[in-house]
Amino acid sequence: MPRTKIIPIPVLGKHVVNAYLLLGRRPVLVDAGTPGSARAIHDHIARHGVDPADLALIVITHGHIDHFGSAAELHRLTGAPLAGHTADLEPFRTGRARMPYLPTGPMGRVMNRNRKLHISADPFEPHVLIEGETRLDDFGISARIMPTPGHTAGSVSVLTDDGDLVAGDLVANSFMGLIPGKPANPPFHDDPLGNLASLRSMLALDPSTLHVGHGTPLDPDRVRRWADREQRRLTRLDARGRIRTRQKS
Ligand SMILES: [Zn+2]
Ligand SMILES: [Zn+2]
Repeated sequence: MPRTKIIPIPVLGKHVVNAYLLLGRRPVLVDAGTPGSARAIHDHIARHGVDPADLALIVITHGHIDHFGSAAELHRLTGAPLAGHTADLEPFRTGRARMPYLPTGPMGRVMNRNRKLHISADPFEPHVLIEGETRLDDFGISARIMPTPGHTAGSVSVLTDDGDLVAGDLVANSFMGLIPGKPANPPFHDDPLGNLASLRSMLALDPSTLHVGHGTPLDPDRVRRWADREQRRLTRLDARGRIRTRQKS
């Protein structure tokens, strides 16, 4: 079986916001960028010699608009079915992320004041509903969708059989990619401890590289060391009742 190639598709900046093109027997897109970026993503895919009409599937990692913003339009442009987890159906169906965003630190608190974060996207209904671990062989790639809840309840990652983990917002680069290769929390998590548990369960599967929604690829050993520190930090905060977690709706 040939290796599944992972190609970053820049949505904003060089790697401030990324989608990913996975090339196996067929192409699969992971994430759909911000609202209004469908044409740019379409053209990026074409520039890699892939006919966007050949996309077998578009996997949406979670219900934040920088990841599903152009899902509906990309579906219209390419005809590819959309896959998303049932626990994020509400944002997909309303075109809005769950409010309020729960900041993970100063970056999130600053971003929370940015009106761009609070716009809505074209809503969509996933054609492929994800609940548990789901193989993607029928869509032409040797990989599986792994539920990785915490960042949002319906967050998923895609793990290829070669060990590449396309991780959405499970972890990010420091300052949204401005410090490349340095692991950090994305600006928001609905459930910080739940997210960290999901990250650690993915690291336990020994991925070779983590490809994230914000920033450059991350080395798993570096992420492991960061996750250990983060575990200690969150445990301390939790003991003082200082972690805000979204109640399950
Ligand atoms: Zn997110
Ligand atoms: Zn994001």
